[in-house]
Amino acid sequence: MKALAFMEHGGIEKLQLLDVPPPDVGADEVLVGVQAVALNRLDLFTLGGLPGLKLPMPHIPAGDVAGVVAKIGAAVSGVEVGQRVLVNPSLWCGRCEFCTSGEESLCNDFKILGEHVWGGAAELVRVPARNVLPIPDALPFEIAAAAPLVYQTAWRALISRARLKIGEDVLILGAGAGVSTAAIQIAKHAGARVFVTSSSDEKLPKAKTLGADVAINYTTQEWDKEVWKATNKRGVDVVFESVGAATWLKAIRALRKGGRLVTIGATTGPNPPEEIRQIFWKQIDILGSTMANQREFREVMRLVLRGELKPAVDSVFPLARGREAFARLSRGEQFGKIVLTV
Ligand SMILES: [Zn+2]
Repeated sequence: MKALAFMEHGGIEKLQLLDVPPPDVGADEVLVGVQAVALNRLDLFTLGGLPGLKLPMPHIPAGDVAGVVAKIGAAVSGVEVGQRVLVNPSLWCGRCEFCTSGEESLCNDFKILGEHVWGGAAELVRVPARNVLPIPDALPFEIAAAAPLVYQTAWRALISRARLKIGEDVLILGAGAGVSTAAIQIAKHAGARVFVTSSSDEKLPKAKTLGADVAINYTTQEWDKEVWKATNKRGVDVVFESVGAATWLKAIRALRKGGRLVTIGATTGPNPPEEIRQIFWKQIDILGSTMANQREFREVMRLVLRGELKPAVDSVFPLARGREAFARLSRGEQFGKIVLTV
């Protein structure tokens, strides 16, 4: 089968369109004929090489898949060949203490499709049958593929971890990232007032169409002071932080006393300077969040499939132009998801 893959870690030039053997299907697995696959920043990190992650080569990145079930394993029931599905890229063991208590994203053997195992930038992808979710005929594959990773991440972080409530103020940093576009919509759906930051005057009005109430350009305005002013020197209840080192200190300053910061990523680096006094004096909760459990995944996908949360698709490229798509992602030019069609 054709796959956008790499033979060694490195930059975007390492990606090539290769012919690789199609995967076999295990008893509890299905093969999905990939129609669309969305990119995440994680795919750039996987391409570049992650510490402690030794991958057999070639490797196929990308875990956000929508397509048609092509083959089912001998023990699979409830999934049929020909069904239109999207794929949950979370992979969990189902046996450890966390999985058996319904916290699959804490799994001792947690993996992500396209990071630890072959992903979906290919004609076929092999996944556990429990990871596919049927989608309505009216939902285009490019939109469906844009949903799974970022909506589950933003849902668990905002709703389960930070316990965002109606009427609260939430600050979402870096409005153009796919996960931020999902977070804006979820926060709005939850009844919060949504503050966003971006470096781009083009992205700020787009964030407002998704539901942002206050949009701040952080290159021309001191965004922590703007947030302070807009909240009458109170600060926001919740910060949704995916930027990392570049924003961490100001994010803590932008919080109200007793506020919650939830971190889901560190695009600009994992080791920010820390201001411990701000944390204890303001009695802040620092929360970590990764992906989601099955319940949360189903909860947020229900809203996506009903059309109440609409994935923001930045651009669509054919698989053969995958390098251009990765280049756009690496430059941070996108607003929403970059999708490859197969
Ligand atoms: Zn487990």
